[in-house]
Amino acid sequence: MNIPEIVRIGGVKYEVRYEEGLNNGTSLAYGHIDYDKTMIRLAPGLQSKQGECKTLLHEILHGVSKHFDLEIENDENTIDALARGLYMVIVDNPEMFGVVPQL
Ligand SMILES: [Zn+2]
Repeated sequence: MNIPEIVRIGGVKYEVRYEEGLNNGTSLAYGHIDYDKTMIRLAPGLQSKQGECKTLLHEILHGVSKHFDLEIENDENTIDALARGLYMVIVDNPEMFGVVPQL
């Protein structure tokens, strides 16, 4: 799995960029999705590549949840579990997605 420059969610292009000093208001954050600016920000240097991929999936799942107006949109534990599960399936089944995992 790679970190792309653009991710489309529900037909909307989200720019993916690294940004220093991300926080959620009280502490450092690994990532953030901004629906207004259609941007996903990832904190550089805080995690391994695998961690960054999981964070990207986490933010994408927030976006998918918002797109479909799901109740889990702001349920961090559920979003995180789904992101970890999805990452696991992607990495364990690379042929299904036509990619070779880069760990
Ligand atoms: Zn989150």
